[in-house]
Amino acid sequence: MRTAVYPGTFDPVTNGHLDIISRGLKLFDHVIVAVLVNREKHTMFTVGERMEMISEATRDVLTGRIKIISFNGLLVNYVRDSGADAILRGLRAISDFEYEFQMALMNRKLLKQVDTVFMMPDERYSYLSSKLVREVASFGGDVSVFVPDFVGKRLEAKCGGRPHV
Ligand code: ADP
Repeated sequence: MRTAVYPGTFDPVTNGHLDIISRGLKLFDHVIVAVLVNREKHTMFTVGERMEMISEATRDVLTGRIKIISFNGLLVNYVRDSGADAILRGLRAISDFEYEFQMALMNRKLLKQVDTVFMMPDERYSYLSSKLVREVASFGGDVSVFVPDFVGKRLEAKCGGRPHV
């Protein structure tokens, strides 16, 4: 049984994240989606809301092979304690590369047996980020091709037409 931990902020989950989860499930038996409780980063949605949206978005398709958890602190500690085999990350445009490269090498320095597996999303999602989705939604733009319908509604409710990025 191979398990990957897919860490991120997921504020909120987008179709790009979901694409990476389903690709990850082709390589791994289980994917643990690890939602970062980030005290420094101001998030639009609480960690509970972010987890609930991932759970709702993955409910029908992939039950049993996905676990959603929240974590604080060092990712490698969670990876070690959970017995996972790898870290899963998405790689979009070139701009992701440098940061991801540093993170992957740092994580391997901290926990030498851990490797990071990068997957590229469908090109439809290669320019998509949660931040962009929040910005578009906050100005009343249509985000329906970027996020599941219910996430679009949650964004609308949260923004209420007010800029909130
Ligand atoms: P973080 O704050 O860790 O970057 P994100 O929720 O923004 O958290 O992203 C989590 C992971 O998902 C990262 O590996 C990121 O590169 C990847 N990701 C985000 N959006 C997309 C997308 N549209 N397509 C593919 N991967 C994505």
